[in-house]
Amino acid sequence: MFLMKEYLNTNIVDKLNKDDKDRDIKVKQDLIRNLLKEKNAILLAHNYQRGEIQDIADFQGDSLELSIKANKTDASIIVFCGVRFMAESAAIMNPDKIVILPNKNAGCPMVDMITPNDIINLKKDYQGAPVVAYVNTSAECKAVSDICCTSANAVKVVNSLAGEKVIMVPDKNLGSYVQRFTDKEIINWPGYCPPHRRTTPGDIKALKEKYPGAVFVAHPESTPETIDVADHVSSTSGMYRYVKETDAKYFIIGTERGIIYKMERENQGKVFIPANSGLVCPNMKRTHLEDIIESLTGMKNIIEVPEDIRIKARKSIENMLAL
Ligand code: SF4
Repeated sequence: MFLMKEYLNTNIVDKLNKDDKDRDIKVKQDLIRNLLKEKNAILLAHNYQRGEIQDIADFQGDSLELSIKANKTDASIIVFCGVRFMAESAAIMNPDKIVILPNKNAGCPMVDMITPNDIINLKKDYQGAPVVAYVNTSAECKAVSDICCTSANAVKVVNSLAGEKVIMVPDKNLGSYVQRFTDKEIINWPGYCPPHRRTTPGDIKALKEKYPGAVFVAHPESTPETIDVADHVSSTSGMYRYVKETDAKYFIIGTERGIIYKMERENQGKVFIPANSGLVCPNMKRTHLEDIIESLTGMKNIIEVPEDIRIKARKSIENMLAL
């Protein structure tokens, strides 16, 4: 009897705590929406962001969709909830707008795996081969590359280029994935995404045994061995479309688990299982509602790119967008 009472009390306390937390989130979300309106700002959120940020975004998408959106907006301020290279791309494309990265420490380890000098040396080693820079690169690296790509358009970008050899930086897994769909020789750089690298074919085998009929959806940043056992491979926005259109109950999701928030909301009755418990990007989770309020109120964490770098990097992004 005593135990039952204690159990009920704990549940009531948990419920009250949750109600308080939900109220607090709602107050912050309303404040942000008001601030955005007041300042003629737009909030862009990557698919890996926290659910409470996805909920109030003017637009949510993958890197390619967000860069197109940033390029088209009439707002004077772009609040970019993602990681630094994404906000930097928005700043490169929109010199007349203010771009804010709400948490200045939100970076990407893959970006730090290559420098502009590395690219210059690759160009010397493979003379004449065009350089395709994944958008997950610094502005300086984009500035010494020929064209950018995202995971959604990498195959198209590579196949659009002249010549037999193409240098792809910095993600070796994306490069290996593209190699499956082109006759060109891909010169790969050994960068990678730490969270995506964690999923193994063994994880998928175990989950498929546990959830018979489950469909495995992988991101091109996964290792080739994991791609080999995938039922479908695409960028995050491609995944949203795929799970909506595919008639299965269980989906094993091989990308950052933030994506599952919207999948669950939009696909009642379907079950989404992370492919690996380590599929969490700490950098994508650095941004909180408080960071957005603080940066927008104080106009902090504005992304600036030196003009000479910006002009060159812009050319690489424009070459991609032209496709
Ligand atoms: S998910 Fe991977 S590639 Fe994307 S920001 Fe995080 S570490 Fe970088």
